[in-house]
Amino acid sequence: MKCLICNLGETREGFATVTLERGQATLVFKHVPAQVCTNCGEEYIDDAVVRHLFEHAEEALEAGVELDVRQYKAA
Ligand SMILES: [Zn+2]
Repeated sequence: MKCLICNLGETREGFATVTLERGQATLVFKHVPAQVCTNCGEEYIDDAVVRHLFEHAEEALEAGVELDVRQYKAA
């Protein structure tokens, strides 16, 4: 699709690194599937994937994790 940010680039299948911060906790998800703009590098992540990330984040927070770096795995 056409990039909504720069309006110049097209997006391609790629991967993003997503950092979620909540209170004292920092969670980093690597290798998250995303559409990445070839021009400006803007990352577009599917809503279902974002929901999945937040579910993982909630689990980690409940477990008292303060810093976690993990590879994203689709359910
Ligand atoms: Zn762009």
